[in-house]
Amino acid sequence: MDKNVQERFTGVIKFTPPLYKQRYQFIKDLVGKYKPKKVADLGCADCTLLWMLKFCSCIEVLAGLDICENVMKEKMHRLSPLPGDYLQPAERSLTVTLHHGSVAHKDPCMLGFDLITCIELIEHLEESELEKFPEVVFGFMAPTMVVISTPNSEFNPLLPGVTFFRHPDHKFEWNRAEFQSWALSIARCYDYSVEFTGVGPPPTGMEDVGFCTQIGVFVRKYSQTSETAHFEKPTKAAYKTVFKAVYPSLKDEKYLQNAVVSEVVFTAQVIKRSLLDHLKSEHEEYNDSPVEIKSKFQHSKNCVSEDLEKLAVERSMEPFVNGNVVYIPLTKIFSFSKVNQLCGTFEKLRKLITGKVTLSSDGSAVMVSTEHENEEEEN
Ligand code: SAM
Repeated sequence: MDKNVQERFTGVIKFTPPLYKQRYQFIKDLVGKYKPKKVADLGCADCTLLWMLKFCSCIEVLAGLDICENVMKEKMHRLSPLPGDYLQPAERSLTVTLHHGSVAHKDPCMLGFDLITCIELIEHLEESELEKFPEVVFGFMAPTMVVISTPNSEFNPLLPGVTFFRHPDHKFEWNRAEFQSWALSIARCYDYSVEFTGVGPPPTGMEDVGFCTQIGVFVRKYSQTSETAHFEKPTKAAYKTVFKAVYPSLKDEKYLQNAVVSEVVFTAQVIKRSLLDHLKSEHEEYNDSPVEIKSKFQHSKNCVSEDLEKLAVERSMEPFVNGNVVYIPLTKIFSFSKVNQLCGTFEKLRKLITGKVTLSSDGSAVMVSTEHENEEEEN
């Protein structure tokens, strides 16, 4: 069969994009389709897939596991938050954790996942590890979905230079029948369904060899709440955590407060600018001098009592000038979509900015000084 395949094919196989990228893209597409929140990659090596997945906005928990600590550490810095993540925290929360350990061992940190990927992992497992793998992944971890990819040995005769296995560390390479029979028996045993597909299509006329990488997509048939799964499976930790990054998120009150305060200050400045421009153009119509404009801004300063000021804010959503200060009702600020999207409720807005932004005595308006504007007029 192998010889026959070689004889029939005279071209050179070149995958575009490269095969490993096609495997990662397959996972990214699956994530885009099913929107899992918790994803773990077993045999994550240098964490490239995890790094790609951190940009998928549905994911809130990412975990990697590998038996080789050094390979994980090589580029794990890519999984840390960037300055931009702090400057503009995302809506979602994201925690990325890397564990050093073997897929032959159970650890409670791998419970409750929606998707577990095992890309080009199983063919690296020793016989004893491969035996334990189904019980650990499908019996213990029991995620909603598992994706396993492995070389399809039927494709090997088309690969230049491959006489035995594709990699010296491979313990086996299966043809489609072997992989499918292994996968189907796992699916039956652990109550999963499985569908087979692959990446790296065969060249035209050689379709009978199948994909270069064969993939099994397993979906759990029974439903399980994370609470019962955790409750039923008390196990001691077997892995060592080697990396953990908690990304800044607006779900964290501290980052939400910073974002709201910045947005309120910015919005208040925009409103103030627009009000002062409006007043200025009104005065210019009547040929007032800058000094007169300034005095008009200030004129009410001494004659509007605190009660009147309160009344004015309460009566209207509109900002007004009193002396050197522009009063911008919080209701006005809350009507700006970015502010109300961030806060959700008016009460939350008030709570988050109290003590962080200068408010009128009754707390109903943001106070912004006009002093800088007046200086501009004078210059
Ligand atoms: N999944 C990655 C990818 O597709 O780029 C890397 C695959 S690499 C070919 C196989 C990885 O499995 C290696 O990083 C190896 O250290 C890891 N590995 C081998 N045996 C393992 C075990 N028992 N438990 C966890 N990881 C293991």
